[in-house]
Amino acid sequence: MDPANPSLPPLFIIVVATLFGLLAGSFFNVVIYRMPRGESVVWPPSRCMNCGYRIPFYLNVPVLAWVVLRGKCKSCASPISAQYPLIEALTGALAGLCAAYFSIPGADLPLGFKLGFTYLVLASVPIFVIDFRHFLIPDLLTYPGILIGLGLSFIPDGITWQQSLVGAAGAGAFLWLIGFAASILLKKEAMGLGDVKLVAMAGALFGIQTALFGLIFASILGCLVGVPMMLLRKLNEQRHIPFGPYICVGTALAAFFAQDALDWYMRLLGR
Ligand SMILES: [Zn+2]
Repeated sequence: MDPANPSLPPLFIIVVATLFGLLAGSFFNVVIYRMPRGESVVWPPSRCMNCGYRIPFYLNVPVLAWVVLRGKCKSCASPISAQYPLIEALTGALAGLCAAYFSIPGADLPLGFKLGFTYLVLASVPIFVIDFRHFLIPDLLTYPGILIGLGLSFIPDGITWQQSLVGAAGAGAFLWLIGFAASILLKKEAMGLGDVKLVAMAGALFGIQTALFGLIFASILGCLVGVPMMLLRKLNEQRHIPFGPYICVGTALAAFFAQDALDWYMRLLGR
């Protein structure tokens, strides 16, 4: 049996992945709400924001609980934001889609890559929400990502642990240096450490080549989205652009297309 393609039926893997994604989405809701307020994500348990009603575990079932309660607190009937079930449904769907894609015969990728890519995609959900709202990327998502990348590198067929380590340290240091240089030139802080940790996570999960191409793709995407936004004067007053979401999308693209981009560039140079 090929260890990269366990012989479990694909439908079973997709269902398990979707259920896991729903639970991850439920946790992300807690992170999205509490982290920017500096509150613990483990304690206290979920409460109604209006009346303080402590939500029992059986009403924490992702998506379903909100539907059964018709979006209202069981105790005081104040509305519960539809953001909660939406985040859960989105995270579940993304996990299911990753599993479905990786189950396609011929999508012959190392198991470590599949799991690492799925982590990146799922973690992107709270990173999108929190970075756009608060210009923050939680360490709670990037530190575990770095550790997961290092851990997955011990699964055969993927990148080695040396590549993972060099990827994390090298890509992180690279972006930190760019930010440091920019802050001297612009005489103000140009980049958050959250971005540096996110790029280090990309390096740990996929190696330095993918992480650096991820940054290039992220910068291109940032220009494609940021310039029209600037023209439409949609940027906020500090002209602050959250870079984290672009790094997520750029890295996801680079995980599949970094080698193609490098080959294309080499041909351009006439090598
Ligand atoms: Zn209530």
